[in-house]
Amino acid sequence: MNHLDNETFIAEFQKDLRDNLTRFPEIETVNHMEGLPRNLLNKILAPNPLSIFIPTEYGGRGDKPSDCLSLLEATAYESIAVGLMMGISGSLFLEPVGKYGQDEARRRIFKSFLDTVSLGGLMITEPDFGTDALGMQTSFNESDNCFSLKGSKHWGGLTGLADFWLVTARKEKKNKSLSRDINLFIVEKARPGQKIEVEEYYHKLGLFLIPYGLNKIDVCVPTTSRLIPQTSGVKLMMDLLHRSRLRLSGIGLGFIKRMLDEAIKHCRQRSVSGINLLGYDQVQHRISQLQAWYTINSAMCYYTSRVSGVSENLTSFGLQANSTKAVVTDMMQDAAQSLLQLTGAKGYRRDQIAGRAVALDLLLSARVLLAEEMAELGLVNKVVPGDDVMAESKALALQLAENVSPASMATIKRQVLAESTMTAEGALESSNALMYESLRGADLTEGVMSFLEKRQANFAPLGSGTTFNWMHEERD
Ligand SMILES: Cc1cc2nc3c(=O)[nH]c(=O)nc-3n(C[C@H](O)[C@H](O)[C@H](O)COP(=O)(O)OP(=O)(O)OC[C@H]3O[C@@H](n4cnc5c(N)ncnc54)[C@H](O)[C@@H]3O)c2cc1C
Repeated sequence: MNHLDNETFIAEFQKDLRDNLTRFPEIETVNHMEGLPRNLLNKILAPNPLSIFIPTEYGGRGDKPSDCLSLLEATAYESIAVGLMMGISGSLFLEPVGKYGQDEARRRIFKSFLDTVSLGGLMITEPDFGTDALGMQTSFNESDNCFSLKGSKHWGGLTGLADFWLVTARKEKKNKSLSRDINLFIVEKARPGQKIEVEEYYHKLGLFLIPYGLNKIDVCVPTTSRLIPQTSGVKLMMDLLHRSRLRLSGIGLGFIKRMLDEAIKHCRQRSVSGINLLGYDQVQHRISQLQAWYTINSAMCYYTSRVSGVSENLTSFGLQANSTKAVVTDMMQDAAQSLLQLTGAKGYRRDQIAGRAVALDLLLSARVLLAEEMAELGLVNKVVPGDDVMAESKALALQLAENVSPASMATIKRQVLAESTMTAEGALESSNALMYESLRGADLTEGVMSFLEKRQANFAPLGSGTTFNWMHEERD
């Protein structure tokens, strides 16, 4: 542990993170299905930012709420996804272990986080139990000084990547039914019998460096790995969830500050019709709105810094925590949309910070989206009244079947899906190669002839007309 004060330590970490994101842009641009490669993760976590969440008596930097918020703010200013990674490991894992863990487990885990690059996460959600989490079916039995846990969990942030997990489960009673209360257990990947198998990694929207997926739980953990609730497990879970939701204000503050700084920088530089963007009323309105959100979020951080210390019991803070999460998420989403608007077409580039942020709201809030809003965000192409769905779908299918080469459709779909994991140069090279292949195929001739002869095109079925190299390779 170096001897910098926490403020300087966080500032240095932020500078380091910025350098890493500049030198290794793939950290943010590539879709890391199974999580960031270890070498990149090591670069980000080398200064040991998570020590901020560890109490001083265990060698950490004190777990003071204002420091935790400052770290989240500094990190989210540079990268919303790295900010979330800190939030998950800090508030969903380290702080609950610090508050409810047994001393033996606490010592070992904090030491591991301080000595090596480590991450932690929380598994509550199950495929059949999301909002109604208390109905979870993951169960545990106690035998021979250990707890054996069995079940299925999904959507735990840092799936497959985290070295430590808090896993929630209900006790199996003698008659095989499950008790009402839940318990939380620390599961340590590196220890025998504690590896959680990832059955599937999920494709996710945005925040590409955080892996999510479906996990099979079949592990045995020592009795010292159980968290000890002050009253009940449900209250323990509410306390930790509320603390983590309040702390989202730190992530919001960093992110909104970045949106504001980017907006001012862009508008200062950009002139449209001979007038600097800052001269337009509408632009001034947007910038003042970003400033207002920044101020509101600062007030939320101030409040959170006062109430969210681990010694506080946040079980009954549902209203404060959930409204903070909802309002901060909305402000972040609106701030990103505003920057997107101000930067014109530039905002639609995925390597531009505003473009990346559109998925943010959906990822953070898991809220209900109405069809119209999905269309507005570009998540669906068209919204039609329920009664017209079949007719509209058939008309579109017919139009594609009659007018487009089946081989081209298959190739375009494949190319678009593959592009999200390619660099810009790679995608350009691959699409040029496919275009040249298509120019040599029979479907091109049929397309041109049908146009000249003013008739319906009659493309051969998939595999019989134009073929592309990838079709032969996949068949082999
Ligand atoms: C990006 C992301 C990260 C996540 N991270 C974690 C994590 O780290 N650990 C973890 O354990 N889980 C995590 N989750 C899972 C998350 O907690 C669940 O997605 C959430 O609890 C909702 O559960 P569900 O997806 O099963 O939705 P469902 O429970 O199926 O709900 C579907 C919709 O119905 C709505 N709904 C439900 N009940 C009602 C009602 N009574 N009235 C009106 N509407 C209702 C919900 O609001 C929701 O919009 C994450 C999810 C996402 C998307």
